Amino acid sequence: MDDRGNNTPAIGIDLRTTYSCVAVWKHDRIQIIPNDQGNRITPSCVAFVDAERLIGDGAMNKAAMNPANTIFDAKRLIGRRFSDSKVQDDIKLWPFRVIAGPVDTPKIVVSFKGEEKEFLAEEISSMILGKMKETAETYLGKPVKDAVITVPAYFNDSQRQATKDAGAIAGLNVVRIINEPTAAAIAYGLDNKTDINGKINVLIFDLGGGTFDVSILTIAEGGTIEVKAVAGDTHLGGEDFDNRMVDHCGREVKRRWNKDLSENKRALGRLRFACEKAKRILSCSTQTSIELDGLHEAIDFSMKFSRAKFEELNMSFFSKCIEIVEACLRDAKMEKSCVNEVILVGGSTRIPKVQCMLQEFFERKELCKSMNPDEAVAYGAAVMAAKLSGNNHKSCQDLLLLDVTPLSLGVEVKGDILSVVIPRNTPIPTKKSKNFCTSEDNQFLTTIMVYQGERTRSKDNHLLGEFTISGIPLAPKGVTKFMDTFEIDANGILTVTSEIISTGKTEKLTITNENGRLSKEQMEKMVKDAEKYKQEDIEYKKKADALNALEDCIYNMKYKIKNMTRGKRSRKMEDAIADTTKWIEHNQAASVDEVQRMKEHLESLCMDEF
Ligand code: ADP
Ligand code: MG
Repeated sequence: MDDRGNNTPAIGIDLRTTYSCVAVWKHDRIQIIPNDQGNRITPSCVAFVDAERLIGDGAMNKAAMNPANTIFDAKRLIGRRFSDSKVQDDIKLWPFRVIAGPVDTPKIVVSFKGEEKEFLAEEISSMILGKMKETAETYLGKPVKDAVITVPAYFNDSQRQATKDAGAIAGLNVVRIINEPTAAAIAYGLDNKTDINGKINVLIFDLGGGTFDVSILTIAEGGTIEVKAVAGDTHLGGEDFDNRMVDHCGREVKRRWNKDLSENKRALGRLRFACEKAKRILSCSTQTSIELDGLHEAIDFSMKFSRAKFEELNMSFFSKCIEIVEACLRDAKMEKSCVNEVILVGGSTRIPKVQCMLQEFFERKELCKSMNPDEAVAYGAAVMAAKLSGNNHKSCQDLLLLDVTPLSLGVEVKGDILSVVIPRNTPIPTKKSKNFCTSEDNQFLTTIMVYQGERTRSKDNHLLGEFTISGIPLAPKGVTKFMDTFEIDANGILTVTSEIISTGKTEKLTITNENGRLSKEQMEKMVKDAEKYKQEDIEYKKKADALNALEDCIYNMKYKIKNMTRGKRSRKMEDAIADTTKWIEHNQAASVDEVQRMKEHLESLCMDEF
């Protein structure tokens, strides 16, 4: 397939915590697609303002004024439980409300059109994905269906599944979920093909807004990319730096005015926005200031912020990044001197201190900055999308991806111990089995609890799901054997099967709603809702356009009248204009047709009079 055919091309979407980016293979190369505002990245943000739903730049612009109904960071909630301590920590900092839904799933509460509405993180993410899909469709001039979506390497199974679901709700066919750093390596590999002789080792250092990922990969001459190890933290990034700044400002308010900001959501929202801006400035200047008039109870807040202060506040985060790099090297069994290229990805790698510490760690090696840290991941995702949709360009065909699982997977055995079946950093797709036996005499059934993580005690890991196998032939403990088989597909998504060896009976783990997955019915409802919201957006836009046209019409007439000599002015017209203006004020809920009729009426009057 190529882009000249009628087939719709597959797109690559980098669905990030703070920004998202979409790209496509066109005219034998990758194009990063700008949105309707001309921006190459789109804020992963959805705002509900009165009767309007805004996604992307529009939503972001409202964030400071409409904090409780501007949703960002949905990626931090996706596939997680409400009671998760990380979710609890985040909730404290968010200006919007999150509640516990059924089976411990977090739900985001907003007020929209005078009603309280609850959304799952998948739904908010699907709105962003929908926006990216639309952006691509406008650019390509045809509908888009297939997409490759990237996720952090550290995402567990439920987070991957939930991201896939979000794609489906947005009307996308998610052909593959790939790891963000792998996508960045694909982009690097494609761009530097001619320079690669033999094998090179690259380290991708991705520090974004919400997550930090390190990966070590080997790129071979032909285009084979092999992931050696991945490490990271799903909760380390620019937003944490912003939070430290917000906390610091909060302390300043306490010290200087003896006031507490912590309950004033609007003030915190404005402060966060200002801190993020200041942080960016501090990446190129050594000093800036934060000024917010009327921040809280008539406080006109103003404060100087130096780069040194910013670095001091966040030093522990920066050091943690370097520790994770070290751990990743250990996992890959690689000396740091063997790393040929250190590639920077993610907006927060623009922070000078981060670059400096990383360079220091790699004994003053030059860091690779040739790729745009905001776009590399979407670029690689689009290459993968092209390959999967059968693009026969040589660069696509040569690409061979050997990814690994980011976390160990296993089952709980006696004593609450995690028995690992697939160790982390195993190349995927993979299938591994392990035998277990009954732990009690005459045991009739057993529950298989599947966990993901690196801790010894099963409870310290992430529970993916559980299932029961019954009908075990009665026997003394230890006699009956089972074989648990773990299979991970190319998306990194897991299926577990358990088999009673003597009878051949099997049970499969289908991750059900109890485990945080959406049921088929829920999915269908969300797809319908997504379509409904989209229709409403279109209606809203039509109505806004009609009202604008009517107002334009009034404006033009007023202008004409104003330019007429006094004696000639039409009383009738002046009245009609006044009536129409009043009508608009009182009929905000009028239909598009009614508004258009008003305009036609006014225009016809105008024809008669002028
Ligand atoms: P993610 O992948 O987590 O969504 P991104 O890679 O889009 O994140 O990076 C966004 C983060 O980068 C935000 O926290 C933003 O404040 C930060 N950022 C962007 N530009 C700069 C800059 N010049 N200096 C410091 N931080 C920046
Ligand atoms: Mg990122």
